[in-house]
Amino acid sequence: MPPRARAGRVHLVGAGPGDPGLLTLRAAECLARADVVISDALVPEAILRSVRPGAEVIHPDRSGRLGQPAINSMMIKRARRGLRVVRLKGGDPSLFGRGGEEAEALARAGVPFEVVPGVTAALGAAATAGIPLTHRLHASSVTFATGHVGAGKPPAAADWEAMAHAGTLVVYMTIARLGSVVGGLLAAGRSAETPAALVRWATRPDQRVVTGTLGTIVHRARRADLRPPALLIAGEVVRLRPDIDWFGRRPLRGRTIVVTRARDQSASLTRLLEDAGARVLEAPAIAFRPPRSWAPVDRALARLDRYQILIFTSVNGVTRFFERLLERRIDVRELHGLSIVAIGPSTAAALEGRGLRVAAVPEEYRAEGIVSVLRTRTLRGMGVLIPRAEVARGLLTRELRRRGARVDVVSVYRHVPTR
Ligand code: SAH
Repeated sequence: MPPRARAGRVHLVGAGPGDPGLLTLRAAECLARADVVISDALVPEAILRSVRPGAEVIHPDRSGRLGQPAINSMMIKRARRGLRVVRLKGGDPSLFGRGGEEAEALARAGVPFEVVPGVTAALGAAATAGIPLTHRLHASSVTFATGHVGAGKPPAAADWEAMAHAGTLVVYMTIARLGSVVGGLLAAGRSAETPAALVRWATRPDQRVVTGTLGTIVHRARRADLRPPALLIAGEVVRLRPDIDWFGRRPLRGRTIVVTRARDQSASLTRLLEDAGARVLEAPAIAFRPPRSWAPVDRALARLDRYQILIFTSVNGVTRFFERLLERRIDVRELHGLSIVAIGPSTAAALEGRGLRVAAVPEEYRAEGIVSVLRTRTLRGMGVLIPRAEVARGLLTRELRRRGARVDVVSVYRHVPTR
């Protein structure tokens, strides 16, 4: 990468607990502008999709676990080359994430930096496991602690007394040491009857929750074969979960759905399914390509005065048609005098977004619908232009021709199978 004149900067950014919807606006903005993203292992791929195309994405955990000094120097070197570096961490960068140590290293090196907070796993888990961390009747304080005591320190460094007397207690990094964490709490006087929950992959569609009491949770976690990353929530508030568990009651919870739409068109469907609780795998069965030849389109564009009606049957048709206009340096004002018909509301919105008024949208979003909205018009001698996919149903053309229209169907894109 070429050196730049401007000063580089590091953003220590929290990626939230896993659901990409819980990324902050500031975090998304940093990712969209980054030259380099150094991501930790907890950050899901879905979030890395908001990284600016062309940016370098580094996963230090995947390359044989680089130590902290190596990561610090990676950030510092790149920032000094004038690059915008995002150090992306699960949850919040400062909570049990070494964000503080990294900020110290940057400050020492004199590299400008910014900290962007994130929704920490405890807050994500509280929301999606249906466990409010405080509640007027049950807990008026909450403590965040780690089950993993810093390297080199004896396990006694955990302040069991303080943890045992917390209102609600959330322990990060517990799974590997669950037995000793629970043992420490019980020994320090917390009751074995205290309700407890373990939440794995909070906020993600594959979230798992195991509940019990401090007396039973170790056994239940083992029986459920619960693995990291998970955190422990202990306290009276855990009792509220059966009433509040909105996440577990969503209709598609536990289902995995494969979405086969083309990659750049699957986002809205994927989001709808995910909101209903499904885990979605995007496996596009088709992709869009330019038509084999632009010649028929270009011929139509050169003689737009021959047409009175322009019909679009897909958003994609709209996008490709207008891209071609631009490539041919044709002004949209050349479309004056053409009535525009869209097959459905999304296609109409795509046209309106380009400042074009849509004369008609059928009630039924398919070719039959278009035929019926044009029913009241005399089509004899009318020129109709339909820019659409290479392979499409013939019904619309046939029907318009039968009613006397001159119809030119030009293909502005084609579908190809992805394999
Ligand atoms: N900075 C992070 C925590 C990093 S420590 C944050 O603010 O959330 C890593 C620990 O966080 C894991 O061992 C686990 O206990 C917890 N954790 C992180 N993401 C989680 C998630 N989606 N669900 C449950 N626990 C999570």
